[in-house]
Amino acid sequence: MNAFHNAQEQLRNAAKAARYTDDEIEILKAPQRIIQVTFPVRMGNGKIRYFKGYRVQYNDVKGPTKGGVRFHPDVDLDEVMALAFWMSIKNSVVNIPFGGGKGGVVINPKEHSPVELESVSRAFIRAIHKNIGPETDIPAPDVYTNSQVMGWMMDEYEAIRGEYAPGVITGKPLSIGGSAGRDIATAMGGFFVLHEAMQTYEMEPARSKVAIQGFGNAGMNLAKILFDNGYKVIAVSDSQTGIFDKDKLNIPEIINHKKEKSTLKGCKIGREISNEDLLELSCDILVPAALENVITEKNADNIMAKIILEIANGPLTTEADEILNNKGVKVLPDVLGNSGGVVVSYFEWAQNNYGFYWHEEEVMERLQSWMVRAYREIQEKSTAREINLRDAAFVVAIQRIIEAAKARGRI
Ligand code: NAD
Repeated sequence: MNAFHNAQEQLRNAAKAARYTDDEIEILKAPQRIIQVTFPVRMGNGKIRYFKGYRVQYNDVKGPTKGGVRFHPDVDLDEVMALAFWMSIKNSVVNIPFGGGKGGVVINPKEHSPVELESVSRAFIRAIHKNIGPETDIPAPDVYTNSQVMGWMMDEYEAIRGEYAPGVITGKPLSIGGSAGRDIATAMGGFFVLHEAMQTYEMEPARSKVAIQGFGNAGMNLAKILFDNGYKVIAVSDSQTGIFDKDKLNIPEIINHKKEKSTLKGCKIGREISNEDLLELSCDILVPAALENVITEKNADNIMAKIILEIANGPLTTEADEILNNKGVKVLPDVLGNSGGVVVSYFEWAQNNYGFYWHEEEVMERLQSWMVRAYREIQEKSTAREINLRDAAFVVAIQRIIEAAKARGRI
């Protein structure tokens, strides 16, 4: 089954759970606009090479479409459509005034110099500039694109328009209109949701053991935040190894090692464990923050955590989700758990449009209030309908999109 079919299946399930009619969800069955471009770029060797790119504007009833642009050799239209659908849901789960979109360029960035990557980024914007803008469609970083790529893209867009337009793109470097706090936004967002859920389930941070898979931007920052807030982080891992101490790990020391050596290997703290074993540890909270589909029907039964905080996108297969659900494990779904990044993207856009910039403390205060509100709305829906948090998140998100579509007379 391809990614878009999978997304449509989720839509049908949520519609069934919420008893939406077929007419009501028609608006989410297909993207509103698909832009497909093929554009030339002169390579370092002097030759022209053509690249293929996509931008899918899935749904704009709640506001300008918003979502990342990925650079990856496997990008295809089905994947971009699915990701654009999920962005519509995620943006609606946290109720920011955006629709969903996504983009991609078929390229292996590892085969290109920074100069070539800059040329590709600028050429992609030249190809799609008529279809994006601060009030129409706002790209952001995704797999293998970063703040530097966003800086080049914004610069190209502004050069074409002949005016400043920092709100056309988010995830920019701080020096050209990026938001304070963007680097830790996803981790902080996940933390605020988890902390709130701990109160719902009457769990105490100081007594709660946490295992985190993935020690990159999201996982490492989250480990530090949890450590600073009194949680017992007992295991962390990267692609090469895992580290475990049954009482508590010294996270700042581990971060120093990772920053110095770029790997957790050779860190003399705790004992080594495999990534597979980390998932099955006796702990209270499990945080998959690396890859998709790491918990499947094969290992779901062995999971011992009471709460799973999904920071990675799609870390549980559908079968695993069902098994964990039946075991009573509370899963804080990705569309909520990792949405801190997109909330701060919204703050970045708001600051750009306003021309007035906030300090990191203000950003974090506002992020907390948005995340806590989103969690509570989903928790309430889950209790009221007796459905799990993932289904509740989809129901809440789709309900908001339907309401906006009705208000516009599109349903
Ligand atoms: P990253 O590239 O900075 O870090 C990924 C981490 O996962 C690295 O530590 C890497 O070593 C580890 N890893 C890779 N393969 C692994 C394996 N087989 N087993 C265990 N660990 C492995 O990425 P990130 O930005 O931290 O993102 C992590 C996940 O969170 C992704 O699924 C991403 O889509 C999702 N996410 C991130 C953000 C964000 O703002 N960073 C936002 C939303 C979702």
